[in-house]
Amino acid sequence: MHATCQPKSVELIRRRERCVWLRGTECEFLAQVAAEGFALQSKIPMDHLKSLIREVPDFPKPGINFFDITTLMKDGPGLKAVIDGLAKAYPAGSVDVVAGIEARGFFFAPTVAYLLGKGFVPIRKPKKLPSSTRSIEYALEYGTDTLEIHDDAVEPGQRVLIIDDVLATGGTAQAVGQLVEQLGGKVAGFGFVLELDFLKGRERLGSHKIASLLHY
Ligand code: AMP
Repeated sequence: MHATCQPKSVELIRRRERCVWLRGTECEFLAQVAAEGFALQSKIPMDHLKSLIREVPDFPKPGINFFDITTLMKDGPGLKAVIDGLAKAYPAGSVDVVAGIEARGFFFAPTVAYLLGKGFVPIRKPKKLPSSTRSIEYALEYGTDTLEIHDDAVEPGQRVLIIDDVLATGGTAQAVGQLVEQLGGKVAGFGFVLELDFLKGRERLGSHKIASLLHY
């Protein structure tokens, strides 16, 4: 790192382009500063984000109140606030790779990974990943579901940040955490746009750090 290079924001990084040598720890440092810089530019209060999320009663079946984040995603400042908020919750130095859970975790995880200067790993529904996979079956309210990861997606010892849109009962996130650990990875933490507190999903995620931007 150049001795005089102590950028506090993306704007400063731009002004000090000569300092941007994207190698090794410099890359990591700048990715973290970039995430912080972008986050600082998010002026939108987190609670305002709730007004951007559409709640759809009885979808996909009676009794479920579905939190539709597509209405938030089409709002530029709203989308930026969510991405910035998730990225800011985890210093780049505490994460090696970011995993997103199909399908709505894919909306956020790659951009968070980009801001942190890390790679992205997809956790997919069965038979979508082309190479050798490891899978996990987990219980739903009715029946079971399965998720898969490429065998070589996570290196032993890598710290994996797991991202999804909603933390409800916690079964999905818990299963993905187990999948990561089966490959020898470590769970760096979980990131969610919103958490349904009354379902107590976080109790299934052990002592891992959980960053939920909104609580219902
Ligand atoms: P769970 O395993 O119960 O924590 O459920 C989390 C997964 O189901 C996430 O991938 C969410 O996308 C989805 N999900 C569960 N409940 C809701 C809800 N009320 N609104 C939107 N998505 C939900």
